[in-house]
Amino acid sequence: MQVPTAAPAPLAPDALLVEVAWEVCNQVGGIYTVIRSKVPATVQGWDDRYCLLGPYFQQQAQSEFEPYDDYQLSTLSDPFAGAVREMRRLGYDVHLGVWLVTGRPRVVLINPYQAYPQLGQIKSDLWHHHGIPTPDHDDLLHQVEAFGHLAKIYLQILAAEVVPPQRIVAHFHEWMTGVAIPALRREQTPLHIVFTTHATLLGRYLAMNDPNFYEHLMLVDWEAEAKRFNIETAVRIERAAAHGSHVFTTVSELTVRECIYLLDRIPDAVLPNGLNIERFVALHEFQNLHQQYKAKIHEFVMAHFFQSYSFDLDKTLYLFTSGRYEYHNKGFDLTLEALARLNYRLQQSGLEGNIVMFFITKRPFHSINPQVLQSRAILDEVQETCEAIERQVGERLFYAAAGSTDHRLPDLDALVDDYWKLRYRRTLQSWKTTSLPPVITHNLVDDANDDILNFVRQANLVNNQHDRVKIVYHPDFVSPTSPLFGMEYGQFVRGCHLGVFPSYYEPWGYTPLECVARGVPAVTSDLSGFGDYVMQHVPQHEEKGIFVVQRQEKSFDESAEELTEMMWQFVLLNRRERIMQRNNVESNAEIFDWKNLRVYYDRAYTLALERN
Ligand code: UDP
Repeated sequence: MQVPTAAPAPLAPDALLVEVAWEVCNQVGGIYTVIRSKVPATVQGWDDRYCLLGPYFQQQAQSEFEPYDDYQLSTLSDPFAGAVREMRRLGYDVHLGVWLVTGRPRVVLINPYQAYPQLGQIKSDLWHHHGIPTPDHDDLLHQVEAFGHLAKIYLQILAAEVVPPQRIVAHFHEWMTGVAIPALRREQTPLHIVFTTHATLLGRYLAMNDPNFYEHLMLVDWEAEAKRFNIETAVRIERAAAHGSHVFTTVSELTVRECIYLLDRIPDAVLPNGLNIERFVALHEFQNLHQQYKAKIHEFVMAHFFQSYSFDLDKTLYLFTSGRYEYHNKGFDLTLEALARLNYRLQQSGLEGNIVMFFITKRPFHSINPQVLQSRAILDEVQETCEAIERQVGERLFYAAAGSTDHRLPDLDALVDDYWKLRYRRTLQSWKTTSLPPVITHNLVDDANDDILNFVRQANLVNNQHDRVKIVYHPDFVSPTSPLFGMEYGQFVRGCHLGVFPSYYEPWGYTPLECVARGVPAVTSDLSGFGDYVMQHVPQHEEKGIFVVQRQEKSFDESAEELTEMMWQFVLLNRRERIMQRNNVESNAEIFDWKNLRVYYDRAYTLALERN
């Protein structure tokens, strides 16, 4: 595979493209980012020959979907609208409208619940025709199978609307929509079907439960394992979709391996994930944003740490990792080990400066730790008091200056009322404490068995004053409504200096790519789809601020040492070098823009159009 350089010409002018995904107008997880960010580039290539198809969930659709009214629907002359009208005439609840995201694509949404009365038949057909059993009382499976049945009906009506030589490419993402594929093939619907699995279901389960996942992959008995994890139905659907599609694809060379061993089909193509890269006209603009959001992180750090002791924020680097709480898969274990080693190296080195490392993830918690919240509130009060004193001193100094005869600066202390002096002292007294700044910001439901906490306890990496690496574990995603950070995740990323994502299992992994898109350097691993792509297609990636930790065929200890060294080298950079590195990262980020990566999708569609 070569990294393409120019946007491809419009593809297959006689073909329509329907992209089917569970996360159209319905954010559940990562596929939403893939589909949504790809829209502008896809619309650019396919224009009004493109439509998305997904499930209709009223709650989610309300905020993202603008339906056409009956009049608008009746005036549209394209086959997508024609098929919706026909489906409605047959009595189905189906919506055509616009997805309110950049690119404003056309979408068809179908309410899965309307097929619930036919679930018995749908399940029986899946079993008798395709050997897919469905247990009772699994609502997600019921939704998925009902939607699959309705998606099949829509596509069949659409196929009947189309006049040859016009053809249809139907691209299904993930098993949840792929359930429609075997029946479409069985009924010989004239479609050119592409199926993309973003990871295999079984792969994810196995990786979470087997520390030597890659060594055992070749030996897995998929049927037995699917039963063991109680995911037999979904796994059988995934296999049926993989085998039923004309073109079967996945997102990285790593998931190719899973497809071969767990689904028994070699993918026809790898479709890497991109982003919509937003470039600023002036280079300094994104650097300014870094300053601005770093200042907000400073506020958090002051509230969290300075209650116990202070350090120089100007010589502090913010590192972070984020994502689902998969301690081993996301490489949290490796990151912690490397941080402990880095802490030791820094202590020995005599170098100045501190590292604050944030773990942003999701764990069940009762509440934010009241001590952390209170500290934040008191710091706000300290700030208010300082501002009041500043105003008072300012005004009085101005009068004193105007009336001055000797031109000497008056005693500033005397310009402050006793009330403010007292309040200042009292607020600080109530704030300062002798206890250590907590590692975790929240009260976890299961504090005793938490892997991150257990590591820091064991390694005594618990924010001692002498620790040069401080840890903040925030077991909730960052959001503007959170009282601790009060910012968007993207703003938080911009405010940090380095993202650290040395995953052990990561089919793709958007988090380092999201750093790069914002001009923030990032660490990834050769066991993540993104890292693997970078190694193969991005020469001199280290100069572009993308660092890949070797985890394939390396021991934990070797990888931990390599990561320690990477972070160490980063710490050694001076401010000027970091600014230059950020410029480099930002100016190379376009490699990952969908405008460039869309070509992989188009190639898969061309291949599908060649196959019947
Ligand atoms: N993320 C977020 N808020 C946070 C932390 C993470 O929205 O506070 C998002 C992040 O933007 C990324 C996703 O979580 O898109 C994690 O995706 P990734 O592909 O890295 O991992 P996956 O979820 O597929 O395992």
